[in-house]
Amino acid sequence: MLDEFSPVKAAPVWGFFALIALYMAGIILVNKSSASEGVIMLSNQAIPHRTLTGAFSSICNLCMVMLVVLYKKPGFVVALIALLSSFPPLIIRVIHQNFSTIPGFFTNILMIITIIIINKYIIRSAGYQQKIRDQALTDRLTGLPNRFAVSEMMSGLIRKGEPFAVAVINLNSFQSINNAIGQQAGDKALIQVADRWQKLADSGKTGTKDFVACQSGNEFSVIIRDCTSEEQLRQSIECYADALKEKIVVDDSDFVLSASVGYAAYPADSQESDTLFNYAYSAMVHAKGKDHSGCISRFQKEMLGNSHTIEMESKIRSALENGRFFYNLQPQFDMDHRLRGFEALARMKDESGYIISPGEFIPVAEKAGLVDLIDREVMLGATRFIGEMVQKYHSDVVLSVNASVRHLLRNGFVDEVREALHSSGLPAGQLEIEITESVMIDSVEKAIDCIHQLAELGVRIAIDDFGTGYSSLSYLNTFPVDVLKVDQSFIIKMHSGEASKQYVAAIIAIGHVMNFQVVAEGVEEADQLEDLREIGCDYIQGFLWGKPMSPEAAAQLMEEESKRA
Ligand code: C2E
Ligand code: MG
Ligand code: MG
Repeated sequence: MLDEFSPVKAAPVWGFFALIALYMAGIILVNKSSASEGVIMLSNQAIPHRTLTGAFSSICNLCMVMLVVLYKKPGFVVALIALLSSFPPLIIRVIHQNFSTIPGFFTNILMIITIIIINKYIIRSAGYQQKIRDQALTDRLTGLPNRFAVSEMMSGLIRKGEPFAVAVINLNSFQSINNAIGQQAGDKALIQVADRWQKLADSGKTGTKDFVACQSGNEFSVIIRDCTSEEQLRQSIECYADALKEKIVVDDSDFVLSASVGYAAYPADSQESDTLFNYAYSAMVHAKGKDHSGCISRFQKEMLGNSHTIEMESKIRSALENGRFFYNLQPQFDMDHRLRGFEALARMKDESGYIISPGEFIPVAEKAGLVDLIDREVMLGATRFIGEMVQKYHSDVVLSVNASVRHLLRNGFVDEVREALHSSGLPAGQLEIEITESVMIDSVEKAIDCIHQLAELGVRIAIDDFGTGYSSLSYLNTFPVDVLKVDQSFIIKMHSGEASKQYVAAIIAIGHVMNFQVVAEGVEEADQLEDLREIGCDYIQGFLWGKPMSPEAAAQLMEEESKRA
């Protein structure tokens, strides 16, 4: 089904006929020139027509080879017929004692052998190519097409201008099923869901032409074509949600699953496949929201925000495509001004080289489903750099990277961390992942599971901007947290009175009771430092002792630190 959307273009049909016409013209010229006694005068020299026979014959042979190479089987059949049909005239001439055609006879035989060899080679390599292509476009677990196949198909449909919709389907609370029955049984459940949806698509019961794919883990997508109205589109999508109502039996246990679905349509919502997919994804996240759990949600521009947001989104895409993301490193120190480590902070340059702060682009990237690409870029770059520095200076500095909650909730985050550690050589204990308290808002189970997996890797976990979000002391016990980062707003308020200072002191004390280290963020003034020292803070990060800096400047700081040690 995907072959029609393959980005490799077939040779045009007119070329096929042009090659045949050229071949026939060549044959006529070969016959005429070989029988002619005439000459052509060139620079006072007489050149017999017969000497041109070889040139015309070469053109004919070239046409045959091009037919086979460009048009595969049909080209091979036509070339073979053409070559075989030129034997009888050659044989008749030999019978009539015209032996000048004998070389032509052998050339023909050689040509036939040549095109048979080329054809065989083409068939064999096409087989390999198809096999590799199939493997690259198939999800290993479910056997469904994978996300690359979806992207290829969407791009193909957009090229053809054929309207379609893409739906992103996420199975609700799947992690808890995995936890309850184990990963292997969870996989069996996924295979059953995939099978059920594939059969539904094949049956045509949805009334539309559907292409079901597995994006990753418990996330699927469906491309819906041949849809005449918005209502029909919704009904078609509802069929997929309804198909889950029947229980799934895995290892003698019954499960009833539900899904959150978001969808977007071409050309109404966007003309770009990536954007469409991200819009459908945003709609799915919207459907998954607390009050909408299990709903089907159509993408609406309000889910993204205003025109500023849309402009920012295109800037982010362009920066991602053109490598205009980079990172700064902001040092963290203990109270004796010894270097603890660095926090990697993303930076983006726009087309004119203007640097945009993460406060502006991260919220937009989160909504557009692009934040994981930014996080990944920062994490890979910073771990590689700090990994090198750690080896060079035998240092025990910690690298903190920010992970957006949305990124954390996506499948594959833990694998990305593992990949970053593996490729950089940075010891897991020297990598810290900063997450915000908002992990409590959505899909808590999945977040907790992911954080546990990170902790199992040996990676440290920090709660960023602590105190600004959904502070609940009880959840801190649920996470294997190592560090609390007190938000700058509390540090600024410490000036305003004893009560505010005691508030920070209380946070620090609770952190210590729970065995966490405490980092104060945004320390700008010496007074703040003194107050923090007095109330027992462990580390500070702020402009007072270090602004975000380039990796080169950070390397210099590490060098100075290593000399001091
Ligand atoms: P954050 O993780 O709380 O990072 C600290 C922010 O406070 C940084 O702003 C830093 O430059 C700023 N800061 C540090 N010390 C001081 C100070 O003394 N005074 C003041 N006024 N500001 C200080 P930045 O770099 O603009 O980052 C803003 C936020 O963007 C970060 O807050 C973080 O939530 C997010 N962010 C940055 N990089 C990434 C990233 O790679 N991925 C994700 N998901 N989020 C990121
Ligand atoms: Mg941070
Ligand atoms: Mg912070």
